[in-house]
Amino acid sequence: MRDYFEQGPIRPPSEATSLLIRVTRNCPWNKCAFCHTYKNSKFSLRKTEEVKEEIQLMKDIADEVRALSWRLGFAGKVTKEVVEYIYSLPDSYGEGFRIIAVWLYFGGKSVFLQDANTIMVKNRDLVDILKTIKEKFPQVERITSYGRSSTIAKRKSVEDLKELYLAGLTRLHVGMESGYDFLLKYVSKGATAKDHIEAGVKVKKSGIELSEYYILGLGGKKWWRQHAIESAKVLNQINPDFIRIRTLKLLPIMPLYKKVEEGDFLLQSEEEMIIEERLLIEKLEGINSYFLSDHILNLLGELEGRLPQDKERMLAIIDRFLSLPKEEKLNYMLGRRATIYETMDDMKDPELYSQVNQLISQIESEKSGSVEETISRLKENFL
Ligand code: SF4
Repeated sequence: MRDYFEQGPIRPPSEATSLLIRVTRNCPWNKCAFCHTYKNSKFSLRKTEEVKEEIQLMKDIADEVRALSWRLGFAGKVTKEVVEYIYSLPDSYGEGFRIIAVWLYFGGKSVFLQDANTIMVKNRDLVDILKTIKEKFPQVERITSYGRSSTIAKRKSVEDLKELYLAGLTRLHVGMESGYDFLLKYVSKGATAKDHIEAGVKVKKSGIELSEYYILGLGGKKWWRQHAIESAKVLNQINPDFIRIRTLKLLPIMPLYKKVEEGDFLLQSEEEMIIEERLLIEKLEGINSYFLSDHILNLLGELEGRLPQDKERMLAIIDRFLSLPKEEKLNYMLGRRATIYETMDDMKDPELYSQVNQLISQIESEKSGSVEETISRLKENFL
């Protein structure tokens, strides 16, 4: 049996245990100045029949994995032992087996449709794919995907989205990035604040859950204030189920990097971005979204909570960081980037705290004043 199926390069962190099914390849837009993911890859649609064949293949592999579990004495349950057995025999069980086994081990209940803008697929085909997933894997409870605001606003009606919802699409992840029109144009997002609102409201009306992404730092030193304020206005009109924060980190392959080199885009410091985040949260009003910092690039990963009731608590977390003495801020920033800390409370552990301080001394002894540089390099590992 063939045990390989196609998978795209990314998925949201919240889909870490989802089965990835590639419905389209790469990004049809591919122009956002802060994005590198699909830069040298051409977009293509996959044939529905081809995707359905792969879903059947995944189902056949899942059946084999369960049968193996019976043979190993685990009554069809995909346990750690079953997964380890599969990993121990790479010549007998290839990548497809490993992916399906791990997915079943984590419950096999969620699926993410790749790549960057699956929502652009014709409704008829997407419904067909969604129904096939539900038929082959009746235990699946959540099917999610990425969707661009401009596609949803221009090409999908609420009825279309409702049809997808009824066929099994439960959540859409939308990269709003900003609600500030000037900035959206500056970074070539290909969507306006109006598109974001129209798309977001439609998704909400259809019953599909909505995650909106905001990029902290995207406004740089010049436009951070408008970026936060205008984005909050857009989010306040959508009231998405989730607001997810991402922190800007540029690589040379990204067009925005060139603007930094030309001196047109001025990067904020870590602290300035946290001040921006404070303004964003402060301006979120009249909504009950769940706010999340679920990406390792976010400095304050603990910033999470339901609006409006957790707003003051989240602002207090930010204020706690901002009021740290300079050395402690640096200690926390390096500790978080070196994955020694998860939250600010980890600094209370004397062993961890001194471990980070030793790291700072070591970096300083090699090159004075280079801790910030090291932090920036460490952040590249998370892209
Ligand atoms: S739409 Fe998404 S994947 Fe495509 S270029 Fe923009 S950020 Fe990257």
